[in-house]
Formats: sequence, C-alpha cells, structure tokens
Amino acid sequence: MNDIMRIIPYGKQEIDSKDIAAVVDALQSDFLTQGPRIAEFEKAFAQYVGARYAVAVSNGTAALHLSALALNVDEHSNVITTPITFAASANCIRYCGGKVTFADIDPATATLDPAKVRALLEAAPKGTYTGIIPVDYAGLPVNLEAFRQLADEFGLWIIEDACHAPGGYFIDSKGEKQLCGNGKFAELAIFSFHPVKHIACGEGGMITTNDAALYERLLLLRTHGITKDAQKMHENHGGWYYEMQELGFNYRLTDFQAALGITQLEKADKGLARRREIARYYSEKFAGTKVDTSVADHGEGHAYHLYVIKTKNRKQLYDKLREQHIYAQVHYIPVHTLPYYRGLGYAKGQYPLAEAFYEECLSLPMYPGLSQEEQDFVIKTVLQHA
Ligand SMILES: *Cc1c(COP(=O)(O)O)cnc(C)c1O
Repeated sequence: MNDIMRIIPYGKQEIDSKDIAAVVDALQSDFLTQGPRIAEFEKAFAQYVGARYAVAVSNGTAALHLSALALNVDEHSNVITTPITFAASANCIRYCGGKVTFADIDPATATLDPAKVRALLEAAPKGTYTGIIPVDYAGLPVNLEAFRQLADEFGLWIIEDACHAPGGYFIDSKGEKQLCGNGKFAELAIFSFHPVKHIACGEGGMITTNDAALYERLLLLRTHGITKDAQKMHENHGGWYYEMQELGFNYRLTDFQAALGITQLEKADKGLARRREIARYYSEKFAGTKVDTSVADHGEGHAYHLYVIKTKNRKQLYDKLREQHIYAQVHYIPVHTLPYYRGLGYAKGQYPLAEAFYEECLSLPMYPGLSQEEQDFVIKTVLQHA
C-alpha cells in the first residue's frame, strides 16, 4: 500500500475556486445552454492556438464527427489515420459511412509515419484516398508540414487530432514554431475537454480552422443544420422563422461548461509548464535504467498529455503499480485490432510497429497537480518492478 494512501491516476483535472465561482456565475445567469460564454471561450481558445476561428462542441468525438461532415466524408471516402490513438479518431469516418485505412507509426515517436502514408498513397491510383487524420499522440505534435506536402501532392484534406496537445508546437522547415491547431497546415483541428485532457469542461470539445466557409458550415451542423440568418434563408415568414438546410446534430456545449473552459484556459500555460517539468524529472530519474523513455523525450514543443515509457515487463509493472494504487494506463490498444475493426476486415499483424509498441507502452501519472512526493513514489515503484 502506498504511504500516501490514495490513488495516483495517470491523468486528472485541476479545479480551483476560480473555476467553481465561474460555473456558479453561469448557473445564476440567464443562459444554461449556448449563451455569451460560448463565444468568449471560442475567441480565447482560437487566440490560444493561433487560429482564426473556433467552434465549441459537446465533446472531442463530436468535434471529429462534425469535422468529417464539414469535409463531406461519405461512403466514397477513404481516410488514413494511425492505429495508436483513441478509437474516436477513426470512428468519425465510420459515422459518415467512409472507409478507414491505417498506416503504421514511426516507432521513435509512436505517431503516424509520413513515409508510411506516402507509400500507401503512391501504391494506389490517384483519388483512392480523401483525407488524413494525424494525431498528436501523447502531446507530441506531428510534423504537419510534412503531411501538408503529401496532402497537396495527392489532393487530400487534413484533420489534426490535437486532443493531446493544446499549447504544443513543432518547428517547421523555416525554423518557426507552429502551434497545434493553428490551422496553417490542416483544414481543421480538434480538441477535447474531457477531464484527463489539459483543459477540463466535464465533457467538451473544440474545432479550430482558418477557413471561413468551413467555419460557417460547422456552426450550421452543430445546431441541427438550422439557420435563422435571414441572408442565408430561402424564405422568411417572420420573426419565428428558421430553416433546416441540411441534416445536422445537437452538438452544443453548455454555457456553464464554457465558463469552466474559460477559467481552465487561463491557467493552461501554467499547467503545461508543470507537465513539462514533470516529464523532465521522470526522464532524468530513468536515464541509464531499464526504463525506456525514448518516445517521451522529444523536444521542447511536447505538450505531455501523457508520459509514456516502454518496458518489456509491462504487464507485471502495470499490476505492481496497481497494487500500490498507482493507476498507470496503456495508450493505446491498436485501433485495427479492436473487435469492431476486425469485423471490418482488419487483422493483427497488419501494422507490426504499432502492435510492438502496444506490447511495451505504459503511461505514467502526468498532471499538473501531481506532487513531488507522489512522483518520487511513482519513480521508486517503477524502478523496483520494471
Ligand atoms: C480524448 C480523445 C478523443 C475524444 O474526445 P472526447 O472528448 O472524449 O470525445 C479523440 N481523440 C483523441 C486522440 C483523444 O485522446
């Protein structure tokens, strides 16, 4: 039993009195569902990631679904993504009836390998594939410039799944910082505000873009495909009149969740700095041991949603940590091996690098509120059993 006597999860939200006051304030206002805090949250978030537009939605999965719809994904679409991600990155294509194709990872980073994507694209007739969904796995931003080059060459769009990486960035070929979700290389980027992610809304999500037409389409799709904008309507019977112009959804975020999002966003940089500090400390303490930190040790732009180690002893380590109330986690079971995807024809053995990574990966506790004492206890226990 750990002497701290409480569960140390792999990820956890950080709610302070300012967050609580903001939510109470919203609850006492005239708006529960979409109100003025939505626009405020969207504006602040767009600014945070350096994008022109942001659309707040009910969760990250809804953000993916709406993104796929806005890019006209249908049964003729074939979209490439990584097997090392949460299933939602692929599911959004299935929601629209499209086909998902996986490409293997770069084992050095565990993110989608642009060279593997290129090989796929070159092996098929032009027009076979319609889009790419790279994932900033664990918070490590992919090189979107490389994916953009492929997308332009083969006529594809890009949705950046940046759920793990608000505040993360990569350095482009000109030496410039490119923030995740800034819309410079991808048509759309999506984020999640699930409590284990950097910013907690309970449930929540965001789509960012620099494209005005996609932005307008997303606003429409978020609310049933309904517009009340007189300039967009075909008729107008009076003040009550609205038009449902296409089949949309109710993917709205509530105003009290947006209130939480706003105060959470205000301390996002502080949390990010703390995550990077925790990562540095892990890497320092594991250097020269059996614990392989190579996937986690990548540059200054890493946003560290997860701190992922590799070990040959993964199951035993997981169980031993659990006995000590340290709830490490595995991210991810390769999506193509999940029973639903196997039912679509995917099989074990198709993406050997992703599958090998899955055998060894383990996400250690990583969240701003993790204390020094707790982290030392995690490190000591890992070193005992790795
Ligand atoms: C969390 C997550 C999602 C889904 O977000 P929800 O808000 O839980 O719907 C999608 N992709 C990745 C990579 C995620 O980590």
